[in-house]
Amino acid sequence: MTKEEEIPDWVGAHEFYDKYEPKEILGRGVSSVVRRCVSKQTSQEYAVKIIDITPSDKTTPQEIEEIREATVKEIDILKKVCGQNNIIQLKDCYESKAFFFLVFDLMKKGELFDYLTEKVTLSEKETRKIIRALMEVVQHLHSQNIVHRDLKPENILLDDEMNIKLTDFGFAVQIKPGQKLKEVCGTPGYLAPEIIACSMDAGHAGYGAAVDIWSSGVIMYTLLAGSPPFWHRKQMLMLRMILAGSYDFSSPEWEDRSDTVKDLISRMLVVDPKQRFTATDVLNHSFFSQYVVDEVREFTPYRRFKVICMTVLATMRIYCNYRRAKPVTKDVIQSDPYAVKPIRKLIDACAFKIYGHWVKKGQTQNRAALFENTPKAILLTLATEADEPVHHIW
Ligand code: ADP
Ligand code: MG
Repeated sequence: MTKEEEIPDWVGAHEFYDKYEPKEILGRGVSSVVRRCVSKQTSQEYAVKIIDITPSDKTTPQEIEEIREATVKEIDILKKVCGQNNIIQLKDCYESKAFFFLVFDLMKKGELFDYLTEKVTLSEKETRKIIRALMEVVQHLHSQNIVHRDLKPENILLDDEMNIKLTDFGFAVQIKPGQKLKEVCGTPGYLAPEIIACSMDAGHAGYGAAVDIWSSGVIMYTLLAGSPPFWHRKQMLMLRMILAGSYDFSSPEWEDRSDTVKDLISRMLVVDPKQRFTATDVLNHSFFSQYVVDEVREFTPYRRFKVICMTVLATMRIYCNYRRAKPVTKDVIQSDPYAVKPIRKLIDACAFKIYGHWVKKGQTQNRAALFENTPKAILLTLATEADEPVHHIW
Protein backbone atom coordinates (compact mmCIF):
# COMPACT_ATOMS: atom_id res chain seq x y z
CA MET A 1 0.00 0.00 0.00
CA THR A 2 1.42 3.42 -0.93
CA LYS A 3 1.50 6.37 1.45
CA GLU A 4 -1.13 8.12 -0.73
CA GLU A 5 -3.61 5.32 -0.03
CA GLU A 6 -2.75 5.08 3.67
CA ILE A 7 -3.81 8.64 4.53
CA PRO A 8 -7.39 9.36 3.46
CA ASP A 9 -7.46 12.96 2.19
CA TRP A 10 -9.58 15.24 4.44
CA VAL A 11 -11.58 12.36 5.93
CA GLY A 12 -10.03 12.90 9.38
CA ALA A 13 -10.58 16.66 9.18
CA HIS A 14 -14.27 16.20 8.27
CA GLU A 15 -14.73 13.79 11.16
CA PHE A 16 -13.18 16.29 13.57
CA TYR A 17 -15.31 19.24 12.33
CA ASP A 18 -18.44 17.06 12.42
CA LYS A 19 -17.88 16.33 16.09
CA TYR A 20 -16.27 19.52 17.43
CA GLU A 21 -16.57 23.28 17.08
CA PRO A 22 -13.11 24.91 17.31
CA LYS A 23 -12.88 28.13 19.35
CA GLU A 24 -10.15 30.56 20.46
CA ILE A 25 -6.40 29.83 20.54
CA LEU A 26 -5.00 28.66 23.90
CA GLY A 27 -1.36 28.22 22.92
CA ARG A 28 1.01 27.89 20.01
CA GLY A 29 4.02 25.72 19.22
CA VAL A 30 6.46 25.52 16.32
CA SER A 31 4.11 23.63 14.04
CA SER A 32 0.97 23.42 16.15
CA VAL A 33 -1.87 25.56 17.44
CA VAL A 34 -3.92 24.57 20.48
CA ARG A 35 -7.55 25.76 20.52
CA ARG A 36 -10.44 25.36 22.89
CA CYS A 37 -13.15 23.28 21.21
CA VAL A 38 -16.67 22.19 22.10
CA SER A 39 -18.22 18.80 21.42
CA LYS A 40 -21.31 19.35 19.24
CA GLN A 41 -23.06 16.37 20.83
CA THR A 42 -22.41 16.95 24.54
CA SER A 43 -21.37 20.67 24.69
CA GLN A 44 -18.38 19.47 26.73
CA GLU A 45 -15.26 21.64 26.32
CA TYR A 46 -11.89 20.21 25.19
CA ALA A 47 -8.54 21.43 23.90
CA VAL A 48 -7.45 20.44 20.40
CA LYS A 49 -3.84 20.48 19.26
CA ILE A 50 -3.89 21.05 15.50
CA ILE A 51 -0.63 20.07 13.83
CA ASP A 52 -0.11 21.49 10.37
CA ILE A 53 1.49 19.10 7.88
CA THR A 54 0.72 21.01 4.68
CA PRO A 55 3.68 21.64 2.39
CA SER A 56 4.54 25.35 2.27
CA ASP A 57 7.36 27.66 1.14
CA LYS A 58 8.82 27.58 4.65
CA THR A 59 8.93 23.80 5.09
CA THR A 60 10.58 21.20 2.90
CA PRO A 61 8.81 17.87 2.16
CA GLN A 62 11.45 16.21 4.35
CA GLU A 63 10.58 18.50 7.29
CA ILE A 64 6.87 17.76 6.77
CA GLU A 65 7.58 14.03 6.86
CA GLU A 66 9.61 14.51 10.06
CA ILE A 67 6.71 16.40 11.72
CA ARG A 68 4.31 13.66 10.63
CA GLU A 69 6.52 10.91 12.02
CA ALA A 70 7.07 12.87 15.26
CA THR A 71 3.30 13.34 15.68
CA VAL A 72 2.62 9.63 15.14
CA LYS A 73 5.23 8.93 17.87
CA GLU A 74 3.66 11.55 20.18
CA ILE A 75 0.22 9.90 19.78
CA ASP A 76 1.72 6.47 20.40
CA ILE A 77 3.39 7.62 23.66
CA LEU A 78 0.23 9.49 24.79
CA LYS A 79 -1.71 6.24 24.41
CA LYS A 80 0.95 4.30 26.35
CA VAL A 81 0.95 6.69 29.32
CA CYS A 82 -2.80 7.27 29.54
CA GLY A 83 -4.47 6.58 32.87
CA GLN A 84 -1.90 8.25 35.14
CA ASN A 85 -3.66 10.96 37.15
CA ASN A 86 -1.19 13.73 36.45
CA ILE A 87 -0.79 13.16 32.72
CA ILE A 88 -3.07 14.86 30.19
CA GLN A 89 -5.57 12.44 28.64
CA LEU A 90 -5.78 12.12 24.88
CA LYS A 91 -9.51 11.78 24.17
CA ASP A 92 -9.59 11.53 20.43
CA CYS A 93 -7.34 11.94 17.41
CA TYR A 94 -7.89 12.43 13.70
CA GLU A 95 -5.50 12.56 10.78
CA SER A 96 -5.94 14.06 7.33
CA LYS A 97 -3.39 14.83 4.63
CA ALA A 98 -3.00 18.39 5.90
CA PHE A 99 -3.57 18.23 9.68
CA PHE A 100 -3.53 16.13 12.81
CA PHE A 101 -6.18 16.87 15.45
CA LEU A 102 -5.33 15.72 18.97
CA VAL A 103 -8.25 16.25 21.38
CA PHE A 104 -7.41 16.55 25.10
CA ASP A 105 -9.25 17.39 28.32
CA LEU A 106 -9.35 21.16 28.66
CA MET A 107 -7.17 22.60 31.43
CA LYS A 108 -8.91 25.90 32.13
CA LYS A 109 -6.33 27.12 34.62
CA GLY A 110 -3.64 27.01 31.90
CA GLU A 111 0.09 26.58 32.35
CA LEU A 112 2.11 26.38 35.56
CA PHE A 113 4.30 29.01 33.88
CA ASP A 114 1.48 31.58 33.89
CA TYR A 115 0.48 30.70 37.44
CA LEU A 116 4.08 31.28 38.56
CA THR A 117 4.19 34.57 36.67
CA GLU A 118 1.10 35.67 38.56
CA LYS A 119 2.44 34.54 41.97
CA VAL A 120 6.14 35.42 41.27
CA THR A 121 7.34 32.67 43.67
CA LEU A 122 5.61 29.70 45.29
CA SER A 123 5.78 28.53 48.91
CA GLU A 124 7.60 25.33 49.89
CA LYS A 125 4.22 23.76 50.64
CA GLU A 126 2.84 24.46 47.18
CA THR A 127 6.14 23.44 45.56
CA ARG A 128 6.03 20.16 47.50
CA LYS A 129 2.58 19.33 46.10
CA ILE A 130 3.60 20.14 42.52
CA ILE A 131 7.00 18.43 42.57
CA ARG A 132 5.61 15.33 44.32
CA ALA A 133 3.02 14.93 41.54
CA LEU A 134 5.64 15.66 38.86
CA MET A 135 8.03 13.09 40.33
CA GLU A 136 5.26 10.47 40.48
CA VAL A 137 4.65 11.10 36.78
CA VAL A 138 8.37 10.90 35.99
CA GLN A 139 8.68 7.69 38.04
CA HIS A 140 5.74 6.24 36.07
CA LEU A 141 7.31 7.27 32.73
CA HIS A 142 10.79 6.03 33.63
CA SER A 143 9.38 2.67 34.83
CA GLN A 144 8.26 2.20 31.19
CA ASN A 145 11.62 3.55 29.93
CA ILE A 146 9.89 6.64 28.56
CA VAL A 147 11.92 9.87 28.70
CA HIS A 148 9.91 13.11 28.35
CA ARG A 149 12.88 15.37 27.41
CA ASP A 150 10.94 18.65 27.55
CA LEU A 151 9.90 19.16 31.18
CA LYS A 152 9.27 22.86 31.84
CA PRO A 153 6.51 24.96 33.44
CA GLU A 154 4.97 25.69 29.99
CA ASN A 155 4.31 21.97 29.54
CA ILE A 156 2.74 21.51 32.98
CA LEU A 157 -0.96 22.42 32.97
CA LEU A 158 -3.29 22.95 35.93
CA ASP A 159 -6.79 21.50 36.30
CA ASP A 160 -9.71 23.11 38.16
CA GLU A 161 -8.43 21.80 41.53
CA MET A 162 -4.91 23.06 40.78
CA ASN A 163 -3.56 19.54 40.22
CA ILE A 164 -0.82 19.32 37.61
CA LYS A 165 -1.22 17.56 34.26
CA LEU A 166 1.92 16.92 32.25
CA THR A 167 1.54 17.55 28.52
CA ASP A 168 3.56 17.92 25.30
CA PHE A 169 5.05 14.51 24.62
CA GLY A 170 6.46 15.80 21.31
CA PHE A 171 10.05 14.94 22.32
CA ALA A 172 9.22 11.89 24.44
CA VAL A 173 10.81 8.57 23.47
CA GLN A 174 10.62 5.03 24.70
CA ILE A 175 14.05 3.46 24.97
CA LYS A 176 15.26 -0.07 25.56
CA PRO A 177 16.64 -0.69 29.09
CA GLY A 178 20.14 0.77 29.21
CA GLN A 179 19.84 2.37 25.76
CA LYS A 180 21.45 5.77 25.37
CA LEU A 181 20.10 8.71 23.37
CA LYS A 182 22.16 11.11 21.29
CA GLU A 183 19.60 13.40 19.68
CA VAL A 184 19.89 16.95 20.98
CA CYS A 185 16.47 18.33 21.87
CA GLY A 186 14.70 20.21 24.63
CA THR A 187 14.55 23.83 25.78
CA PRO A 188 17.86 25.59 26.51
CA GLY A 189 17.48 26.61 30.20
CA TYR A 190 16.21 23.13 31.14
CA LEU A 191 18.81 21.07 29.24
CA ALA A 192 20.83 18.58 31.28
CA PRO A 193 24.63 18.94 31.01
CA GLU A 194 24.98 15.52 29.34
CA ILE A 195 22.69 16.63 26.46
CA ILE A 196 24.89 19.69 25.87
CA ALA A 197 28.04 17.56 26.16
CA CYS A 198 26.53 15.18 23.60
CA SER A 199 26.01 18.04 21.14
CA MET A 200 29.64 19.06 21.49
CA ASP A 201 31.29 15.66 21.23
CA ALA A 202 30.43 13.18 18.46
CA GLY A 203 32.04 10.39 20.50
CA HIS A 204 29.89 11.02 23.60
CA ALA A 205 28.31 7.91 25.14
CA GLY A 206 24.83 9.52 25.08
CA TYR A 207 22.24 10.29 27.74
CA GLY A 208 19.28 8.60 29.40
CA ALA A 209 16.23 9.16 31.61
CA ALA A 210 18.22 11.18 34.19
CA VAL A 211 17.80 14.27 31.98
CA ASP A 212 14.20 14.55 33.24
CA ILE A 213 15.41 14.79 36.85
CA TRP A 214 17.75 17.63 35.93
CA SER A 215 14.89 19.57 34.26
CA SER A 216 12.68 18.90 37.28
CA GLY A 217 15.43 20.33 39.51
CA VAL A 218 15.48 23.45 37.33
CA ILE A 219 11.67 23.70 37.61
CA MET A 220 11.78 23.25 41.40
CA TYR A 221 14.46 25.92 41.82
CA THR A 222 12.47 28.31 39.57
CA LEU A 223 9.21 27.81 41.50
CA LEU A 224 10.88 28.72 44.79
CA ALA A 225 13.20 31.50 43.61
CA GLY A 226 11.03 33.00 40.87
CA SER A 227 14.02 32.97 38.52
CA PRO A 228 15.88 30.04 36.96
CA PRO A 229 19.20 28.65 38.26
CA PHE A 230 21.01 28.89 34.92
CA TRP A 231 20.58 31.95 32.85
CA HIS A 232 22.74 34.33 30.87
CA ARG A 233 21.77 36.67 28.06
CA LYS A 234 24.50 35.06 25.97
CA GLN A 235 23.31 31.53 25.38
CA MET A 236 26.82 30.10 25.08
CA LEU A 237 27.61 31.33 28.59
CA MET A 238 24.38 29.86 29.92
CA LEU A 239 25.26 26.48 28.42
CA ARG A 240 28.70 26.73 30.03
CA MET A 241 27.07 27.41 33.40
CA ILE A 242 24.94 24.29 32.96
CA LEU A 243 27.95 22.16 31.94
CA ALA A 244 29.77 23.27 35.10
CA GLY A 245 26.63 22.92 37.26
CA SER A 246 27.27 26.48 38.34
CA TYR A 247 24.29 27.88 40.28
CA ASP A 248 23.78 29.10 43.83
CA PHE A 249 21.17 29.90 46.44
CA SER A 250 22.30 33.48 46.87
CA SER A 251 19.21 35.45 45.76
CA PRO A 252 17.23 37.02 48.65
CA GLU A 253 14.34 34.57 48.18
CA TRP A 254 16.53 31.70 49.40
CA GLU A 255 16.99 33.30 52.84
CA ASP A 256 13.52 32.09 53.79
CA ARG A 257 13.87 28.60 52.32
CA SER A 258 14.68 25.49 54.37
CA ASP A 259 17.98 23.60 54.17
CA THR A 260 15.95 20.48 53.34
CA VAL A 261 14.60 21.92 50.11
CA LYS A 262 18.03 23.26 49.11
CA ASP A 263 19.52 19.83 49.82
CA LEU A 264 16.99 18.15 47.55
CA ILE A 265 17.58 20.60 44.68
CA SER A 266 21.34 20.13 44.99
CA ARG A 267 20.85 16.35 44.61
CA MET A 268 18.79 16.81 41.45
CA LEU A 269 21.12 19.37 39.85
CA VAL A 270 24.13 17.04 39.88
CA VAL A 271 26.24 17.23 36.72
CA ASP A 272 27.12 13.51 36.69
CA PRO A 273 23.88 11.70 35.75
CA LYS A 274 25.05 8.56 37.58
CA GLN A 275 25.30 10.47 40.87
CA ARG A 276 22.01 12.32 40.30
CA PHE A 277 18.91 11.30 42.28
CA THR A 278 16.35 9.11 40.50
CA ALA A 279 12.60 9.90 40.72
CA THR A 280 12.29 7.32 43.52
CA ASP A 281 15.23 8.88 45.43
CA VAL A 282 13.56 12.28 45.12
CA LEU A 283 10.23 10.98 46.45
CA ASN A 284 12.04 9.33 49.38
CA HIS A 285 13.81 12.57 50.35
CA SER A 286 12.84 14.07 53.72
CA PHE A 287 11.38 17.14 51.94
CA PHE A 288 8.38 14.95 51.11
CA SER A 289 8.08 13.23 54.46
CA GLN A 290 7.54 16.56 56.25
CA TYR A 291 4.01 17.49 57.16
CA VAL A 292 2.54 14.19 56.06
CA VAL A 293 0.57 14.10 59.33
CA ASP A 294 -1.05 17.44 58.71
CA GLU A 295 -4.64 16.22 59.01
CA VAL A 296 -5.09 15.36 62.69
CA ARG A 297 -8.66 16.22 63.48
CA GLU A 298 -9.06 14.37 66.81
CA PHE A 299 -7.05 16.24 69.46
CA THR A 300 -6.21 14.32 72.66
CA PRO A 301 -5.83 16.47 75.86
CA TYR A 302 -2.03 15.97 75.67
CA ARG A 303 -1.97 17.07 72.05
CA ARG A 304 -4.14 20.08 72.84
CA PHE A 305 -1.70 21.06 75.65
CA LYS A 306 1.26 20.65 73.28
CA VAL A 307 -0.38 22.82 70.60
CA ILE A 308 -1.11 25.57 73.20
CA CYS A 309 2.55 25.50 74.40
CA MET A 310 3.85 25.64 70.84
CA THR A 311 1.51 28.51 69.98
CA VAL A 312 2.69 30.51 73.04
CA LEU A 313 6.34 29.82 72.16
CA ALA A 314 5.83 30.77 68.52
CA THR A 315 4.06 34.00 69.51
CA MET A 316 6.95 34.91 71.83
CA ARG A 317 9.48 34.16 69.10
CA ILE A 318 7.62 36.30 66.57
CA TYR A 319 7.41 39.14 69.12
CA CYS A 320 11.15 38.93 69.97
CA ASN A 321 12.12 38.82 66.27
CA TYR A 322 9.86 41.80 65.67
CA ARG A 323 11.61 43.74 68.46
CA ARG A 324 15.02 42.76 67.14
CA ALA A 325 14.23 43.55 63.49
CA LYS A 326 15.88 46.59 62.01
CA PRO A 327 13.33 49.37 61.57
CA VAL A 328 12.57 50.19 57.95
CA THR A 329 13.45 53.86 57.67
CA LYS A 330 13.11 56.24 54.76
CA ASP A 331 16.91 56.00 54.27
CA VAL A 332 16.81 52.20 53.96
CA ILE A 333 13.95 52.42 51.45
CA GLN A 334 15.77 55.05 49.40
CA SER A 335 19.20 53.39 49.40
CA ASP A 336 18.24 49.72 48.89
CA PRO A 337 14.48 49.14 48.52
CA TYR A 338 15.07 45.64 47.11
CA ALA A 339 16.52 44.52 50.48
CA VAL A 340 13.16 45.05 52.20
CA LYS A 341 11.14 41.89 51.67
CA PRO A 342 7.61 43.35 51.27
CA ILE A 343 8.94 46.02 48.89
CA ARG A 344 10.95 43.40 46.99
CA LYS A 345 7.80 41.29 46.58
CA LEU A 346 5.89 44.34 45.39
CA ILE A 347 8.60 45.29 42.86
CA ASP A 348 8.77 41.74 41.51
CA ALA A 349 4.99 41.44 41.31
CA CYS A 350 4.72 44.78 39.45
CA ALA A 351 7.50 43.76 37.05
CA PHE A 352 5.62 40.56 36.22
CA LYS A 353 2.32 42.45 35.84
CA ILE A 354 3.98 44.70 33.25
CA TYR A 355 6.29 42.24 31.49
CA GLY A 356 4.56 38.92 32.22
CA HIS A 357 3.32 38.66 28.64
CA TRP A 358 6.85 38.95 27.44
CA VAL A 359 9.08 36.89 29.70
CA LYS A 360 7.92 33.62 28.19
CA LYS A 361 8.85 34.05 24.60
CA GLY A 362 12.25 32.42 24.32
CA GLN A 363 15.62 31.78 25.77
CA THR A 364 16.79 35.36 25.30
CA GLN A 365 13.68 36.73 27.01
CA ASN A 366 13.72 35.10 30.34
CA ARG A 367 12.04 35.83 33.67
CA ALA A 368 15.55 35.84 35.18
CA ALA A 369 16.17 39.14 33.38
CA LEU A 370 13.51 40.79 35.50
CA PHE A 371 15.52 40.02 38.61
CA GLU A 372 18.66 41.73 37.36
CA ASN A 373 17.56 44.99 38.88
CA THR A 374 19.68 47.31 36.80
CA PRO A 375 17.93 49.54 34.25
CA LYS A 376 20.52 48.53 31.63
CA ALA A 377 19.70 44.83 31.93
CA ILE A 378 15.96 45.47 31.62
CA LEU A 379 16.46 47.71 28.58
CA LEU A 380 18.81 45.27 26.89
CA THR A 381 16.45 42.35 27.28
CA LEU A 382 13.48 44.45 26.28
CA ALA A 383 15.31 45.23 23.06
CA THR A 384 15.21 41.54 22.18
CA GLU A 385 11.41 41.54 22.29
CA ALA A 386 11.29 42.02 18.54
CA ASP A 387 13.13 38.71 18.04
CA GLU A 388 11.23 35.72 16.72
CA PRO A 389 10.01 33.55 19.59
CA VAL A 390 12.15 30.43 19.75
CA HIS A 391 10.34 27.51 21.24
CA HIS A 392 12.82 24.69 20.95
CA ILE A 393 16.17 25.74 19.64
CA TRP A 394 17.29 22.35 18.48
P1 ADP B 1 3.88 22.34 21.57
O1 ADP B 1 4.42 20.98 21.31
O2 ADP B 1 3.61 23.08 20.33
O3 ADP B 1 4.66 23.11 22.62
P2 ADP B 1 1.86 21.85 23.63
O4 ADP B 1 1.19 20.50 23.67
O5 ADP B 1 2.90 22.11 24.65
O6 ADP B 1 2.39 22.11 22.17
O7 ADP B 1 0.74 22.98 23.73
C1 ADP B 1 1.09 24.36 23.57
C2 ADP B 1 0.36 25.19 24.61
O8 ADP B 1 -1.06 25.07 24.43
C3 ADP B 1 0.59 24.76 26.06
O9 ADP B 1 1.79 25.27 26.56
C4 ADP B 1 -0.65 25.32 26.72
O10 ADP B 1 -0.53 26.71 26.94
C5 ADP B 1 -1.74 25.11 25.68
N1 ADP B 1 -2.42 23.81 25.91
C6 ADP B 1 -2.03 22.62 25.45
N2 ADP B 1 -2.87 21.65 25.84
C7 ADP B 1 -3.81 22.25 26.59
C8 ADP B 1 -4.98 21.76 27.32
N3 ADP B 1 -5.29 20.47 27.34
N4 ADP B 1 -5.72 22.66 28.00
C9 ADP B 1 -5.39 23.97 27.99
N5 ADP B 1 -4.32 24.48 27.34
C10 ADP B 1 -3.54 23.64 26.64
MG1 MG C 1 4.94 22.78 24.71
